[in-house]
Amino acid sequence: MADNYCPECGGLLTFDVAARKFACKSCGLFLSRDELSEMRDKKRDQEDDKRSKNKERGDYLEWWLSKKG
Ligand SMILES: [Zn+2]
Repeated sequence: MADNYCPECGGLLTFDVAARKFACKSCGLFLSRDELSEMRDKKRDQEDDKRSKNKERGDYLEWWLSKKG
């Protein structure tokens, strides 16, 4: 599976069959599949936030420069 990496530290996750949860051996994260994907979505949103803020700034700069001609 490609998604067996810890969203927190990037370490390898192992699936605990008995608990039906993923465990990270690097940072001790212990999450169910749902919690894991939820956490990933949050991380992705944060990244998107950063990216779109940078983009806005870039667009504004572009607009400003084009105005000045
Ligand atoms: Zn981890």
